[in-house]
Order: sequence, then C-alpha cells, then structure tokens
Amino acid sequence: MTLIERLEALTGPCRESEEAIYEALGNCNHKRYECYSIQGDSGQTCLDCGKDLYGADHAPRYTASVDAAMTLVPEGLRWCIDTGNGEPRSFVEPPHPYNGQPFWGKHSTTPAIALCIAALKARGVS
Ligand SMILES: [Zn+2]
Repeated sequence: MTLIERLEALTGPCRESEEAIYEALGNCNHKRYECYSIQGDSGQTCLDCGKDLYGADHAPRYTASVDAAMTLVPEGLRWCIDTGNGEPRSFVEPPHPYNGQPFWGKHSTTPAIALCIAALKARGVS
C-alpha cells in the first residue's frame, strides 16, 4: 500500500502516517541515536541513517492540523480546500490554472488529510 493509499484509508488523524510523511520527505524520524561531544559541541547522531539530529524537529501533526498540512504544499503552488460533495477535498496546482493539471486530494473525514494527499501528489510522493 502506498503512502497516498494509506492516507486515503484513514478515518482520522494518525501519528504513524505523520511520521511516514516526514520520512518520505527525507527527514529522519528514527528513534535510535547516540550522543556525541566534540570540543564542546554536543549533539545526537541517528544510529539508523547517520544524520546529525542537532536541532531536529519531530514530525508535525500533518493529519490533524491544516496549518501543518499546508507546510507540505510546494513553494509557489496554489492550494484550495472545500467540501465538494460534502466530503473534504483539496487541490494543489501551479499558480496559473492553465499551466498544469491540479493534484487532487479527497478524504472522507478531515480537510487536513485531503490537503496532505494533494500536496504529497504535487511533490511526486506516491
Ligand atoms: Zn535517522
């Protein structure tokens, strides 16, 4: 099952899906790390992917918050959320409507998840 299919199947906000989105965008969401201290500089290194976790954030609540979902919309693209046939739906598209097809996201319960789906499609995440 793809990430988009997982999101479409949700019945409400889901922390595991938020972490999967965060990872799909190249962020480290691993839980195992080691601490280092080099000449007074200290931090953490991920034991799974090797990334330096100094100052790293945790996965935002993409599926629970429209504000967080909006951070997934690629820079410069337009977005919209409405309630098409009574279901939350969203699209993300290039600034001029005739420069490309919109990426649609629909969800049975929450507008945040609909926006997540549209924004991830616009980013090429499947
Ligand atoms: Zn990692």
